[in-house]
Amino acid sequence: PNKRYTHILDLLNAWSLSTNYIVPIPRDKMILLHSSIQFGSVLGKGAFGEVFKGKYTPIGGSDPVEVAVKRMIGEPKRELIQDFFNVRIDSEVSIMSRLDHRNVVTSYGPCTLQFPVMLVMELVPGGDLRVSLTVTMHFYFSFFQKYLQKTPNIPHKQIILFALDISKAMCHLATKVVIHRDLAARNCLITKDVRVKLSDFGLSVHETNTVVKNLRKAPIRWLSPETLTKGIFNQKTDVWSYGVLCTELMTRCAADPLAPRDLKEVQKWIKESDHPHRIDGGEPRELIEIVDYCCEKSPSARPDFETVRKKVHRLYQ
Ligand code: ADP
Ligand code: MG
Repeated sequence: PNKRYTHILDLLNAWSLSTNYIVPIPRDKMILLHSSIQFGSVLGKGAFGEVFKGKYTPIGGSDPVEVAVKRMIGEPKRELIQDFFNVRIDSEVSIMSRLDHRNVVTSYGPCTLQFPVMLVMELVPGGDLRVSLTVTMHFYFSFFQKYLQKTPNIPHKQIILFALDISKAMCHLATKVVIHRDLAARNCLITKDVRVKLSDFGLSVHETNTVVKNLRKAPIRWLSPETLTKGIFNQKTDVWSYGVLCTELMTRCAADPLAPRDLKEVQKWIKESDHPHRIDGGEPRELIEIVDYCCEKSPSARPDFETVRKKVHRLYQ
């Protein structure tokens, strides 16, 4: 059975056990038991979570499925922290359950009944784009050598295909009124057929516009001028981050668009440069057109994601 089916089986089993009736529960209301998860190796680590490979055995004894389990980083010492982590995972799950797209990672549900609180999601075996571009891309492509041989120009086309997949995911987010707020190569995962799925909805919100006061945990190097100065987030600020992500694709994440600096320095740098993310090198060169367009300083001069998708699609053809 595919993952959705397994998930529905879970719902049916849980409810038929207690009521003998089948009651549909919304996907974002499902809570999984800690005992249903078996941990495997570490897949990755971000600012908030540590992600493990794992096996999830649905209630009712169906076969275990391979999953990725995100465990919140931090010592749960107080009730407050428990609330914070629960709320964070719950919001990540509720955002994910709004989304349903081949280029977006799906969630099985949260494990929030015990510590550590966790989020169970589909396993995307190729790892994130950043790791793959810098470290394992060669191994990965040699693993898919047949595919490579059939498509000799794969590197450039493949890079544009990654950009296209991400733009499609972002169009879907736009139709569902979700702002991602952490769009970067590290949050794009590679499937076994070498396509991209967007992940990490830990900072995402279901809003068209939001203003924050504090950017302390924000990915400052991917943020637009209006975010850095006024804390504004909306589709156009995601479009800016998409432009920065294209520079990551072009440089295979080798050269960070900006060396890590503090908020003040990044603000100054963005202010003083007309095209802060216009890079000299990088391939495929055509993508620079997308970078320039997405990283226009004035938000109204930037395209929406539908326009981005069409432009990238043209580059792909
Ligand atoms: P954080 O919110 O801490 O940034 P992420 O959700 O981005 O956490 O996960 C951290 C890393 O774990 C990712 O960059 C990726 O390498 C890996 N990872 C996350 N989700 C999955 C998944 N579903 N399948 C495979 N690897 C994953
Ligand atoms: Mg992340």
